[in-house]
Amino acid sequence: MRAKVLIVGGGFAGASTAYFLSQAGIGDIVLVDKESHFGIHSSGRNAGLGRQIVPELMAYTSAGMSFLRNTNLGTGPLLTVSGSVLLAKTSTGLQEIMDCANQWNVTYKALCAQEIYDRWSMLSKSIIHGGLYIPDDGMINIQALLSGFLNNAEHHGVTLQTSCEILGCKQQGKPWILETSQGDITTDIIVAASGAWNRSLGDSIGVMTPVMTSFRRHLFVTHPLPVTKRVEPFLWHVDDHFYIRQYNDDTCLISACDATEMEPQSFVEDSNALMKLKKQLNHVAPSLATYEIDRQWACLRTFTEDNIPLVDWDNGANNLFWVAGLGGHGATGCSVIGEQAAVAIAKKILD
Ligand SMILES: Cc1cc2nc3c(=O)[nH]c(=O)nc-3n(C[C@H](O)[C@H](O)[C@H](O)COP(=O)(O)OP(=O)(O)OC[C@H]3O[C@@H](n4cnc5c(N)ncnc54)[C@H](O)[C@@H]3O)c2cc1C
Repeated sequence: MRAKVLIVGGGFAGASTAYFLSQAGIGDIVLVDKESHFGIHSSGRNAGLGRQIVPELMAYTSAGMSFLRNTNLGTGPLLTVSGSVLLAKTSTGLQEIMDCANQWNVTYKALCAQEIYDRWSMLSKSIIHGGLYIPDDGMINIQALLSGFLNNAEHHGVTLQTSCEILGCKQQGKPWILETSQGDITTDIIVAASGAWNRSLGDSIGVMTPVMTSFRRHLFVTHPLPVTKRVEPFLWHVDDHFYIRQYNDDTCLISACDATEMEPQSFVEDSNALMKLKKQLNHVAPSLATYEIDRQWACLRTFTEDNIPLVDWDNGANNLFWVAGLGGHGATGCSVIGEQAAVAIAKKILD
């Protein structure tokens, strides 16, 4: 197979890059994923919280939320606007998110600790100084987002190939000749969008991968709850003590925001994860610790050294572009990241 651009990875990083490249009129793009279908890893298994205020990532989350609110990819609404309440433990933490909101013109209402306890009596007083209600935040329809990028890219000529893993490299650059589980692919440009597997991709193609670290996080879905326990807006403690959102009509999704450094193994859960969740909830929101859990899973968030996504050409290897380290807000920010990648790649192709 021959391609001008080969995108490795069909999660949000690769899919949004393919979408924006194809929108820019770039042809001859192939996107491969090693799995039998798209969205098996982080992009299909995340919490789907759309949060505008993330201090170090405002350029991504602010514009990313605007894309989610205003774009129709033909797969249904990308965002259910439910609002969020960001909880802070200290006055400094509260001030930091308030400063961001002001600087980026995010609409909010400041809440004092008492207002928060009055509304969410399950919260432990020791973890809250105050919070911000952000009415325009919401829950991302992650399936609609991923399939929207992929369907539109395919419609504009991108070839999508599942069960196709990059295994090695026969020639580096000008052009690249890669060995895959479905035969060789020759390409002018590689886009490395392989999430937690970036290092193994780098090893396979013989390049030094920029430093990235993956952390496992568990998510839990409760047993059906009475309507009085609905959680809208969603709650997220900015010191990462926990978050909780409405999941289905009568269930909630909860995370204790655990972060265990891991090598990229697909679905390895900690057998003590539920016990750890209950312990954490006993500290931050004791009544939530009594909720029965029906389902749980784990997945990896991958970060660069400075926590800012890497959207750039490789320093050493020719025609290798990284779209990597989307971290914990990649569902929210991926449109900005994919567009940034597409602009840089299209420029090189068209120059
Ligand atoms: C538990 C959890 C909760 C989260 N919650 C939120 C949230 O609430 N809001 C938010 O905005 N973000 C959230 N995120 C972050 C978001 O999910 C990620 O930032 C995003 O999904 C990363 O996308 P990606 O494309 O980089 O990685 P992935 O989705 O992992 O995609 C990488 C793809 O590359 C493929 N691949 C790897 N190696 C190869 C190879 N050699 N050949 C071919 N294919 C290969 C893989 O099969 C995979 O499909 C969460 C993440 C986790 C783990």
